[in-house]
Amino acid sequence: MAAIADVGRDRSRGGYSRHGFDDVELSLREWFVAEATDRGLDVTCDRNGNLWAWWGSPGPGAIITGSHLDSVPGGGAFDGPLGVVSALAAVDAMQAKGFKPAKPFAIVVFAEEEGGRFGVACLGSRLMAGAIDPDAARRLRDPDGVSLAEAVAAAGLDPARMGRDDEALASIGCFIELHVEQGRGLIDLGAPVGVASSILAHGRWRFSFTGEGNHAGATPIGDRRDPMLPASQLVLAARAAASRVDGARATIGRIQPVPGGTNVIASTVDVWLDARAATDEVTRSVVAEIKAAGMDAAEAEGCELTVTEESYGDTVIFDPALRDSLAAQLGGVPALPTGAGHDAGILAAQVPTAMLFVRNPTGVSHAPAEHAEPDDCEAGVAALATVLEHHLSI
Ligand SMILES: [Zn+2]
Repeated sequence: MAAIADVGRDRSRGGYSRHGFDDVELSLREWFVAEATDRGLDVTCDRNGNLWAWWGSPGPGAIITGSHLDSVPGGGAFDGPLGVVSALAAVDAMQAKGFKPAKPFAIVVFAEEEGGRFGVACLGSRLMAGAIDPDAARRLRDPDGVSLAEAVAAAGLDPARMGRDDEALASIGCFIELHVEQGRGLIDLGAPVGVASSILAHGRWRFSFTGEGNHAGATPIGDRRDPMLPASQLVLAARAAASRVDGARATIGRIQPVPGGTNVIASTVDVWLDARAATDEVTRSVVAEIKAAGMDAAEAEGCELTVTEESYGDTVIFDPALRDSLAAQLGGVPALPTGAGHDAGILAAQVPTAMLFVRNPTGVSHAPAEHAEPDDCEAGVAALATVLEHHLSI
């Protein structure tokens, strides 16, 4: 963690900004390749830009661990890198005692997990699992207008080959992702490490309000069609709708007025909604309520609203047998749900998948205050090494 502590620091937001296939993330990938190679692992890059570091020959029934190296804008140090670093440290622990895997084993680094650049979370694992149309993915654009196809081509990959990777999927016996906990579950349980039980259903929607751009001084209030009005009401509607449903979450953390001038009535305002709840049905109903409020608010201001679903993932229940087996191997650590999405959640639809969580004493994530104490990180590495050894021996 110390070796990459200065890579991608965000001076304006605080924390780190490391986004899929940008210079920062590419340098982290180079760092990972060097670290893996130092341990005698063979690194390959798959058709979707995910890195695989194999200990021995690739093959079916492989035990796979890993995570991601990218971050949200202004994110913390641990979300993603902790899983990759812990995987390398677990290999160190196994190699130090002369352990020889009886099965194929690899550490994977998934590309653009946070969707911080192209807007779709878990992009590398989604592409691999066939959970996103590759044509739609290739057309995704970052805020500078660069398409995913252009970004991966610049990184030396062939964008035409992106898409479901049956060969990679067929090689996976199980996938175990270690991750910093994004919440307070392990603090409350007094446990340094736990296993994941489920992930909330979650998605992202773009609300585009269109009105009439005009002069802030010369346009009387009664003559305005200001899309900022319904956009602001949407923020309140999101909070209200989620508050009425136990465990639901609705967040608006990004809003973009065009043209975005102090003395200009915006012509359009884009607002991104992140909504999550325990089930698909509840998530959909919360979003429908927010959408209805947005439509009413747009109409009242003489504006138009279009809503685009940018990504969606149904509730994930991790493989119960694998989850229980991991918990038992670790002496009965607790199992807990999470509100955060993960590559493991995408893969869970295809292969047996589990997650280990490491306690986060702040409970904060996707922000610079995200943290894990060194002792808890060590406990995470030991837990990961234990379960990997178990699965690599049987
Ligand atoms: Zn993560």
